[in-house]
Amino acid sequence: MDLYEYQGKQYFARFGISTSPGGVADTVDEAVAQAEAAGYPVVVKAQVKVGGRGKAGGVKLAGDADEVRLHAGNILGLDIKGHVVRRLWIEHASDIAKEYYASFTLDRQAKLHLGMLSAEGGVEIEEVAETNPDAIAKIHVDPVAGLSEEAAREWVDRANLDPEAREQAATLLVRLYHCYVEGDCDLAEINPLILTPEGKVHALDAKVTLDDNAAFRHPEWDEFAGSDVEDEREARAKARGLNYIGLDGSVGIIANGAGLAMSTLDVVNQCGGSAANFLDIGGGANADVMAAALEVINSDPAVRSIFVNIFGGITRVDEVANGVLEALDRVDISSPIVLRLDGTNAVEGRALLADHLSDTLIAEPTMLEAARKAVSLASA
Ligand code: GDP
Ligand code: MN
Repeated sequence: MDLYEYQGKQYFARFGISTSPGGVADTVDEAVAQAEAAGYPVVVKAQVKVGGRGKAGGVKLAGDADEVRLHAGNILGLDIKGHVVRRLWIEHASDIAKEYYASFTLDRQAKLHLGMLSAEGGVEIEEVAETNPDAIAKIHVDPVAGLSEEAAREWVDRANLDPEAREQAATLLVRLYHCYVEGDCDLAEINPLILTPEGKVHALDAKVTLDDNAAFRHPEWDEFAGSDVEDEREARAKARGLNYIGLDGSVGIIANGAGLAMSTLDVVNQCGGSAANFLDIGGGANADVMAAALEVINSDPAVRSIFVNIFGGITRVDEVANGVLEALDRVDISSPIVLRLDGTNAVEGRALLADHLSDTLIAEPTMLEAARKAVSLASA
């Protein structure tokens, strides 16, 4: 789960990471009230879960109430890379002497935590990585040993932060590490981490991704989940316990197992089509799950054909076939369905469907043939 900047900052605060005082606002009037409370000058910031808000006009400085009104009015409703701004964060503006970058994430290949620190912050880190990779100081942290103050200091020296920032930065980075580990983050990123002219180091931005697998030990995360305005299709699928990711194409895909779902995307692409979604109904899926999956895909107006690709293992194909029939019974499916059913009880499953096959319920013997059919139907 990705957090909004303001939530990320609240999360940082729990771990003693310094941020600017501020508050959220959903209207222009609220923005002014928050600005009065934070003290001028303030910065008015779009709360959307996408980077590059500054460049898109979603971050503006304001010296008085009139400027807050102007900027809040402009930013609310602004579309930033497909994300419409519904909420603002207003904080007391900082003077900036230097902008740094700091983050922790997991290096799966090294099986260690990876910290990245750069004296060249403020810009997107991908840009720094490309144009000036030496400006990023990396540190691998053994999750058992953790990050010591000493290692953090050495890291800060290596990153060449300004001398007056180093001690505070090292302390802050150890806190950020604690936030990342104890806070069960997949990513904890500060860009920019600033040094003020008065010599104070603190976080001006927060990008936090929580590890959903750890949600069971964080009842306090519930407050974040509620505020999440997600893809409608994804919300519907989640409510039914399905692993669903919305994409831009026109072939709806249902497969069992993430591996098969990904291969299905590839085969659809190979056949010249594009997927409208990624939907893995998992192992052991029964009729109910299959019916729910078809309902979710059917509700996406971009879908022109539905490709059901099942290789039964624990999942029994006859159960899946029953699910398809149930869904056809329950909802008015508006796109043709192409089935590829193989594996456990495939013979029984196909037999169940035999009498129901038509122009809109088609069975193909192989994955490739089914993909071709689904793609041709989607472009028909
Ligand atoms: P992003 O563009 O989505 O990463 O949003 P940020 O929160 O990083 O803000 C973008 C840029 O706005 C920063 O890199 C700063 O240069 C600038 N900015 C943000 N907050 C302040 C502030 O309090 N004072 C000043 N002077 N600039 C700020
Ligand atoms: Mn930023």
